[in-house]
Amino acid sequence: GVVTRFAPSPTGFLHIGGARTALFNWLFARHHGGKTLLRIEDTDRKRSTQEAIDAILDGLDWLGLDFDDDTVFQAQRAERHAEVAHKLLDAGLAYKCFATPEELEEMRAQQRANKQPMRYDGRWRDRDPAETPEGAPFVVRIKTPQSGETTIEDLVQGSVTVRNEELDDYIILRADGTPTYMLAVVVDDHDMGVTHVIRGDDHLNNAFRQLPIYHAMQAIEGGWPIPAYAHVPLIHGNDGAKLSKRHGALGVEEYRDEMGILPEALFNYLLRLGWGYGDREEITREEAIELFDIDGVGKSPSRFDLKKLEHLNGNYIREADNARLAALVAPRIEAEVDEKLLASAMPVLKTRARNLNELAEGAAFLFQRRPLEMTEKAAQLLDDEARARLGLVSDRLKAENSWTIEALEATTKAIAEELELGLGKLAQPMRAALTGTTTSPGIFDVLVLLGRDEALARIDAQAA
Ligand code: GLU
Repeated sequence: GVVTRFAPSPTGFLHIGGARTALFNWLFARHHGGKTLLRIEDTDRKRSTQEAIDAILDGLDWLGLDFDDDTVFQAQRAERHAEVAHKLLDAGLAYKCFATPEELEEMRAQQRANKQPMRYDGRWRDRDPAETPEGAPFVVRIKTPQSGETTIEDLVQGSVTVRNEELDDYIILRADGTPTYMLAVVVDDHDMGVTHVIRGDDHLNNAFRQLPIYHAMQAIEGGWPIPAYAHVPLIHGNDGAKLSKRHGALGVEEYRDEMGILPEALFNYLLRLGWGYGDREEITREEAIELFDIDGVGKSPSRFDLKKLEHLNGNYIREADNARLAALVAPRIEAEVDEKLLASAMPVLKTRARNLNELAEGAAFLFQRRPLEMTEKAAQLLDDEARARLGLVSDRLKAENSWTIEALEATTKAIAEELELGLGKLAQPMRAALTGTTTSPGIFDVLVLLGRDEALARIDAQAA
């Protein structure tokens, strides 16, 4: 069966590109009824942090991406990586290189001067092992083919060919005996039984470098099937440049915490970034599992568009359960919140909100205490004339038996007609008095949500 993996390096947060890679791996495996595994590539001990690991796990969990089997921590497998390096060495398919750093620097300087590509020149490749200096430090390098071509049939990029002379004999084991990234990835993918490597196309070059390890291990012990590759184009910003912070490329937790995006919205948006199913915008998790396949992944980079994400988020907000929204919005309101009341306000609040922050802003008036804080605009609106009108409104609403949208609307309209005013001339001061702002849900919704006593008290506080 299919086995995919997501293999983040925990050197930073789970960014949008990584989250999409994780999603594609997850969907591909779920679609094919296979497994998807998580491997934390923490071999760079200096740059890997527990904080980053936690942020990645947290972000994946929030997006609802669950992984099969136990998480593999690459650094814990260093012995196994070294074991493979030694098999390659013993079989003569890798070799010890004793070149000193100074020597290699000189080699590079010459290549630079001759405008040659900078690669290791294989100076220890064919040395007689008897020649090797005793006790001197060495690295282990893989023998890569020196002529011919290598072709990868990539599931996204198509057929890609590289001339083998472009690949140098790179290091698989460092002088201190630790494995390099290139070796670790191949050994881990093999040992984890990975059948499909789905990752960013910035790793396409690495695939060509990784193949010689597979070929060598096939020669030594058989097995070691080469996984299918799918190198997904990177995400670009709206201006076509590589995605950066400037474009809104944030960590997944920032979309959640700071921007108030729902996980199903980000899931859906990431899915549509690089994968399409006709022009369908909204696709649920279940549909995505059913529909996703690699042949729907495009070859050109997709553009990250914050507006589209927020648009989608707004749609998901409107579909979301009100009690759930209330629980998510409550901590974003700077006041003591009655979650039941907040939930009952959701149908009104969510009609236009694009994120949880907008819901919180829209709901804030419900939980303010009198005297209300007024925005500058609201305060300006409440001139003497407006206060006098509020007095009349207050009298009439006090006589109102039925505190419903319909009744309140009929009464207010009647007052406006009497005064020969547009409804706005009443509604705006009412809004200012009731919410302390000049923007809010519909004024009759506001009256109903606040309830008779609180609404009248707020109007009276401003009425003359
Ligand atoms: N750890 C690598 C990264 O975060 C991914 C390696 C891979 O997928 O092969 O870019």
